[in-house]
This record gives sequence, structure tokens and C-alpha cells, in this order.
Amino acid sequence: MELQKTLCVMTKDELKKLDESLAKRETELVSQLEEIAGKNPAVEGDYKVTIPDYGSGDTENANEVSDLDRNFALEQELDAKLRQIRKAREKLKQGTYGTCETCSSSIQQERLKAMPIAHLCIKCAEQRPRFR
Ligand SMILES: [Zn+2]
Repeated sequence: MELQKTLCVMTKDELKKLDESLAKRETELVSQLEEIAGKNPAVEGDYKVTIPDYGSGDTENANEVSDLDRNFALEQELDAKLRQIRKAREKLKQGTYGTCETCSSSIQQERLKAMPIAHLCIKCAEQRPRFR
């Protein structure tokens, strides 16, 4: 039997399902973002953290600050995830899904199953300090 070497061994159906689940996740993330942040009118697709208003007392102000900090951290995290999902969906569309961005080799299927938004193969991901 001849060994087939393709960049992505997923079937069209699998790719479609993947895109659908990513689209669902994208919608969830957008609504989460909208809860803690408003749309940034200056940047398309970007969000700005809104400041919750508890009142003007000292305790309330302290609450505002910690909530704002937390929302900022959350906003960053959600925004990063959203970008990764959009990137993955863009790659699905272009047919480059499953290819490592650094070395252009195909990303292991097991890895993609565990992390559909992976854009680096395990080897390259391990070389990144933040994955250590
Ligand atoms: Zn790689």
C-alpha cells in the first residue's frame, strides 16, 4: 500500500465539523467579551474593558480597581483565544490548516485534536519559552 503524504489527513466532513465547532466557540467568546468589554470603536474587532460602576465610596473604588484588573486580564485572555480561533478558521478556509507556522511541517493529528487552534507543531511549540 502506498503511503499517502498529505498536509492534512482530515476529511472534508471533519474539517466542516471543526469549522462549525470553532464558529460556535467564537460566538461564545464574543458574547463573553461583550459582557466585560465594549467594542472598541477605533479598532475593528477589538474590545475595550468597561469600568464597572459601584459608586464613589472608598470600598467601592477598591472594588472597581480589582474588577477592572481582573477584567483586563480576562479580556486579554479571551481576545487572544478569539484571535487564535479566527486564525484557525482562516486557515481552514485557505486550506493551510494543520501546517506549522514556523517549520511548515504538518502538525500531529493528536495535537490538533487536543488543541484545534494549534498553529505550531510540538517541536516548535516546545522551543517557545511560554510553553515550557
Ligand atoms: Zn514546526
